[in-house]
Amino acid sequence: MKIAVIGTGYVGLVTGACFAETGNHVIGADIDHQKIAMLKRGDIPIYEPSLPEITARNLEKGRLEFTTDLEYAVKESEILFIAVGTPPDEDGSADLVHVTDVARTIGKHMNGYKIIVDKSTVPVGTANKVYQEISKLTNHEFDVVSNPEFLKEGDAVNDFLKPDRIVVGVDTPRAEKVMRELYAPFIRTGSPVIIMDVLSAEMTKYAANGFLATKITFMNEIANLCEQVGADVEMVRLGIGTDKRIGPQFLFAGVGYGGSCFPKDVKALIQTGRQYKSPLQILESVDDINKQQRRKFFDKILGHFDGKVDGKTFAFWGLSFKPRTDDMREAPAIEIIEWLLERGAKVRGYDPQAMEVAQGLFGDRITLCQFDYEALEGADALVVITEWNEFREPDFDEIKRL
Ligand code: NAD
Repeated sequence: MKIAVIGTGYVGLVTGACFAETGNHVIGADIDHQKIAMLKRGDIPIYEPSLPEITARNLEKGRLEFTTDLEYAVKESEILFIAVGTPPDEDGSADLVHVTDVARTIGKHMNGYKIIVDKSTVPVGTANKVYQEISKLTNHEFDVVSNPEFLKEGDAVNDFLKPDRIVVGVDTPRAEKVMRELYAPFIRTGSPVIIMDVLSAEMTKYAANGFLATKITFMNEIANLCEQVGADVEMVRLGIGTDKRIGPQFLFAGVGYGGSCFPKDVKALIQTGRQYKSPLQILESVDDINKQQRRKFFDKILGHFDGKVDGKTFAFWGLSFKPRTDDMREAPAIEIIEWLLERGAKVRGYDPQAMEVAQGLFGDRITLCQFDYEALEGADALVVITEWNEFREPDFDEIKRL
């Protein structure tokens, strides 16, 4: 099939490379000239395991190409994936400006029947808006499909190639047939393609992220209580995670979730609830508690130093919002570092992959170190904020010496 993926970020790039891997011809299109120039040279602008190999292989075979020419991408393709960002607006609802821009571009350059697939996470009703935008600009036939993405950064290629399930919201048998065909190579081990109406597919993505954010937050509250009563949350985690109804994943207590999805998707779903006068009280609490969780962690640091961190040096191990990614969007490290800097502390940071991103965010306000133990030189405390594997067996003697 001839496919265009518009938006070559974490989701678009993985989607494009994986569809090329199964023999399709894929055009990755983006308005970011610098990103496309890098991709054309075979350089991957983000850190995502296996993505460089799969991209290089498909570029070499001629099944994958990159362009900033959106007109070319639209005209050459039968299926057009929209994979642009949907950041939070001021009130927390999803900002659809990029999605609408792409819809207009598609409408303007249509030259025959196309299937337009919303891969971006978008509020219920967005496919309909995309449909309206495109139909204002073309008389060609088209279908709009919702196909939310469930990949995890850090294991994105594997998740895309071997998904637990594929959710497709469609309104016509014609689009359903093409989508089933497109995904057939990915479900050979029995994972289902769940076909549903468009509104339910859009809702499914938010419900999934809302539930996962709730699971994390529930465990964080239990951890706080464990600390008060003297119980060990790690034991409690094992005790409940072995119950099949609960499951072992997403039960690790910590400083609260971050990243480009959970915070914004929880907020966007809360806004949808308010808009339809069907408030989501659990999620409202989840959002609040998650903010407090970071603050609690910071208060512990302050407590240790009797509230005086002025002039103290803090080493940070891990800056990305979770291990195996360079993504720092809504990373807990950012806020905690900012709070320390506000109080006159100095920060020396190290992350296995997020150093360039951290440099862009903090400039010379913090010292970025090339090696983990280098960050400890002269430090008064070590803050381990992201659970990268390489921090699991620290050399405590060396830490003390430095
Ligand atoms: P991203 O910011 O990494 O990438 C978005 C890309 O879209 C950028 O390269 C940007 O230049 C490009 N873009 C913006 N406007 C454009 C336009 N008009 N035309 C062409 N390109 C344009 O974002 P992401 O993390 O890949 O997320 C994309 C969507 O997928 C979001 O809705 C997100 O919620 C959803 N999602 C993300 C993840 C994840 O783990 N990152 C997982 C599932 C779903």
